[in-house]
Amino acid sequence: MRDETCIFCKIANGDIPAATIYEDEWFRVILDMGPASKGHALILPKDHFADLFALEEAISEKVLALAAKIGAAMKKSLGCAGINLVQNNGAAAGQTVFHFHMHVIPRYEGGPAMVSWKPGSPSGEELAELAEQIGRDLV
Ligand code: AMP
Ligand code: ZN
Repeated sequence: MRDETCIFCKIANGDIPAATIYEDEWFRVILDMGPASKGHALILPKDHFADLFALEEAISEKVLALAAKIGAAMKKSLGCAGINLVQNNGAAAGQTVFHFHMHVIPRYEGGPAMVSWKPGSPSGEELAELAEQIGRDLV
């Protein structure tokens, strides 16, 4: 299903052109127009899902295998030393386009630091309580 107002629906289905690395029945993989590094790609489902929580299981089951395929091609073609998979859900998490997408970001030896955080230092007790709290709401 498509959302007529969504730019990634238009790109994924070929209505707006984008530099396409790969396409199949379910996905289009394009280069990000504001790349974090050379070759930064976005995996876009052709159907509209706002985020991870809305994603159909049949699609989510395929995404990681596709990311591995794209990442392997990047290592071969671009000579990157690794990749980051980044997938933002919700404005608070940095999501700016509300059509599910997975970032595949090539990382190069000696490249700039990114996707990092300052580690906290919770006690073992705090971690155990938190784990229990989150676990209670698993469905
Ligand atoms: P996010 O912050 O996770 O929602 O990421 C949105 C990403 O989409 C950003 O990295 C943008 O640079 C990228 N983006 C937005 N519009 C386009 C477009 N028309 N073509 C390619 N990349 C886009
Ligand atoms: Zn969409």
